[in-house]
Amino acid sequence: MADYLRTLFLHPPSFRGFDGGAGARYQARREIRSFWYPTWLAQPAALVPDSRLVDAPPAGLALPDVAPLAREYDLAVLHTSAASFAHDVRVAEALKRENAGLRVGFVGAHVAVQRERALAASPAIEFVAGNEFDFTIQEIAQGRPLAAVAGLSYRVNGHFERTAERPPLENMDALPFVVDVYRRDLVVEQYFIGYLLHPYVSLYTGRGCRSRCTFCLWPQTVGGHRYRTRSVEHVVSEIAQARRHFPQVKEYFFDDDTFTDDLPRAEAIARGLGRLGVTWSCNAKANVPASTLKVLRDNGLRLLLVGYESGSQAILNNVKKGVRLDLAREFTRNAKALGIKIHGTFIMGLPGETRETIEETITFARQIDPDSLQVSLAAPYPGTALYQEALERGWLERDELVDAGGVQASVLGYPHLSRTEIFASVESFYRRFYFRPRKIFGFLREMATDAAVCRRRLAEGAEFVRFLARRHSSA
Ligand code: SF4
Repeated sequence: MADYLRTLFLHPPSFRGFDGGAGARYQARREIRSFWYPTWLAQPAALVPDSRLVDAPPAGLALPDVAPLAREYDLAVLHTSAASFAHDVRVAEALKRENAGLRVGFVGAHVAVQRERALAASPAIEFVAGNEFDFTIQEIAQGRPLAAVAGLSYRVNGHFERTAERPPLENMDALPFVVDVYRRDLVVEQYFIGYLLHPYVSLYTGRGCRSRCTFCLWPQTVGGHRYRTRSVEHVVSEIAQARRHFPQVKEYFFDDDTFTDDLPRAEAIARGLGRLGVTWSCNAKANVPASTLKVLRDNGLRLLLVGYESGSQAILNNVKKGVRLDLAREFTRNAKALGIKIHGTFIMGLPGETRETIEETITFARQIDPDSLQVSLAAPYPGTALYQEALERGWLERDELVDAGGVQASVLGYPHLSRTEIFASVESFYRRFYFRPRKIFGFLREMATDAAVCRRRLAEGAEFVRFLARRHSSA
């Protein structure tokens, strides 16, 4: 085995409770305690023997906790995001102060699309990786000269060099299991998602999404628009391995952009999971046929995370969602009839939003009535078509995507609809969806069945109300 640099993979500390690690699509502090697994960092970590993955926010680690780690390593790979970049640069500088010989590189969609700009932010950053950085990082950890590593921008003698692009990874089975890294370095009980059973484990079975939604970060940056997938056997073997590692885990979540983009494969994986007898859930577009839903449900599917985004067909068309509202309604009816739970996600303030479309969306959500929902503000990430459109049309009224506490900020404003009105619409959406007798009784019924669920829902309910109050005062 080749010698490797002693390598630290770090999701740095930034905002308190910040769910912005190498697995979060919307990097922000959430309404309730929420952490995705740092899967994009676990993948290269699995390729570098004896490395260590530190995910600071879920572990409750602050800068004084992580800075001394620098002395134990030769190489530190930091995952960053649009929301946390300034904080992450400060962490890189603190690591360098602890160990001047430490080599520090940044990875993540935010820097992959503006590599030289990221390097210019601080001399502490030696290199920035482009997309598909798994093997890029492995080669650096093997001690190869940076000039010989594809997919990289780096600093040399006061200027920046860029190496050849790294082609997209086609053999996805070449990526080792992330669950081995989770077991080695993470504590599964520290990871929460409100609508998933606790504890849960999430991972990817492929990369890329066929759709071209203009606001969506990963397919336009790190993943691409082909769904490149691991084999069915590879996925099922990893879940079998996870069960051996984590007998306490209650649910597995497949966080592929759109797990249902390849229906025959989704059904084949489901059958494999059914044989294992696990409970699982995944992302889906609101167009999965009833026959497939039934196969998935019969093989352990509990919940679908569905990006409805808007109840206005015009807005869905503006953002190239590729979904018809009538079909989304039919899909939802079918899923609910099969007993599949739905967590719906919506976005306020997308291009074309008006006071009327906000009303249409809230009405639509109340009518289709997913079990739970999340309402986000439109977030124009660099590297997306939405960002470009916002720049060109003068909609971008502030740069920071989060406020001083790490909570999502409203950044897009339109001549007919201010960003403060869009900000306020999120709270009104939540209140009008959740504060209805049918939703309140639904929660009470769920809580009555299980004491642990009851405790969790009470804590989350209090947290949610505090979140709304804080948000209200900062509006
Ligand atoms: S379907 Fe979902 S994952 Fe795919 S581009 Fe659209 S929002 Fe992104």
